[in-house]
Amino acid sequence: MDKRQHIAVVEDEATQRQMLLDYLSKQGFRVSGFEAGAGLRRLVERELPDVVLLDVGLPGEDGFAIARWLRERSSKVCIIMVTAATDTVDRVVGLETGADDYIPKPFDPRELLARVKSVLRRAGVSVIPTTAGRIRMGRRVLDLDKRVLVESDGSEETLSATEFDLLKVFAENPNRPLARDWLLETIGHREMEVFDRAMDLRITRIRRKVEKDPAHPEAIRTVRGVGYMFVPSKE
Ligand code: CA
Repeated sequence: MDKRQHIAVVEDEATQRQMLLDYLSKQGFRVSGFEAGAGLRRLVERELPDVVLLDVGLPGEDGFAIARWLRERSSKVCIIMVTAATDTVDRVVGLETGADDYIPKPFDPRELLARVKSVLRRAGVSVIPTTAGRIRMGRRVLDLDKRVLVESDGSEETLSATEFDLLKVFAENPNRPLARDWLLETIGHREMEVFDRAMDLRITRIRRKVEKDPAHPEAIRTVRGVGYMFVPSKE
């Protein structure tokens, strides 16, 4: 049985599609290419690929519609939208389309590969990176071993299990817009699902603990229409 991870590429431009297929196949993935959503739908009837690279600008059914359809079929499949400069990024990731990530054209294939690996890693239930250590978050430092926030004077603030889980996920996914749904699934607190606001309240509490100015958050930012993003400080 073919154990390679399977990536489906939906791109109407033949040269671009072939370039992606060649590149990803050289990187050790099993690949399938489609010029439109219809081909992908036929594939999904038979088997679910691990990752779908979805061009937004397709003739007929656009990438957003295909992403929504795909997400209804499976919460497991990783969806990466390939966007053109004219596409509105706000719509791309998150609740509305269910995409996991996006990459704007033109892109470096290595950048794409990094995104693919990242979504696959995030999707893997057992892959919890053991990046034991300390990560600066706003005015404090998250200590992953002790599960506390450390102040510059060395004093420690304890965290609830949910707060720690959220901060850990943020620490592992810097500079990436993370959808509320995805955050809920990842930290495995599904009982929160009913209350979208429960997530927002937890973020508010976390911000009070890490931000220099919680009213103007810089570390845990809001991504409108999507969710939140951890932006590491420059120093
Ligand atoms: Ca296109």
